[in-house]
Amino acid sequence: MERLIFATGNADKMKEIRMILADSGYEIMSMKEAGIDVDIVEDGSTFEENAVIKATAISKLAGCLVLADDSGLEVDAMDGAPGIYSARFEGVDTPYSVKNKIIMDKLEGLPEEERTARFVCAIAAAWPDGRVETRRGTIEGTIAHEPAGENGFGYDPIFYVPEYGKTTAQLDPEEKNKISHRGKALRMIKEVL
Ligand code: IMP
Repeated sequence: MERLIFATGNADKMKEIRMILADSGYEIMSMKEAGIDVDIVEDGSTFEENAVIKATAISKLAGCLVLADDSGLEVDAMDGAPGIYSARFEGVDTPYSVKNKIIMDKLEGLPEEERTARFVCAIAAAWPDGRVETRRGTIEGTIAHEPAGENGFGYDPIFYVPEYGKTTAQLDPEEKNKISHRGKALRMIKEVL
């Protein structure tokens, strides 16, 4: 089976990715499994640019098809922040319980219609011959008043999906994959593989 490397060091993301790409016809490998240990500087100004930077750099190194994603949370009342800086927001080592509280505090007192937010995920596929494709998936929601749920990671406990009456941390992983930004982007990129 031909192999495909997914360029992420995030074990939680890798779990979601394996579930969705299980029937892609490729053997899915993490960077660790592929024996690649590099730090790529993500200095793009959009989710797509960062995903392309990662995927092309690793594809050149590994000589095979590489997928990379860049994702984050856009809060409308914060002018789209943390956006591409979601992982670095308030410091990379700051626990998400603290980051999540900071966001809820910033939105305190705002009416429901001004608490809108979305998760965005851009995925890039890079082939060793230089071909590159990108796809973007989003999921719309609002910022919750209290964190809720134990599933997922990062900002999931404060990302409330009105249609489900739950945060993405309260959805089970299969449910989240069906509607998530990453699930949507992955299913779109699967079509061009
Ligand atoms: P990346 O690893 O550079 O794409 O950074 C993504 C960051 O955005 C993560 O570290 C999380 O903070 C946030 N994020 C992206 N997707 C999700 C998600 O599905 N749930 C919760 N947080 C997410």
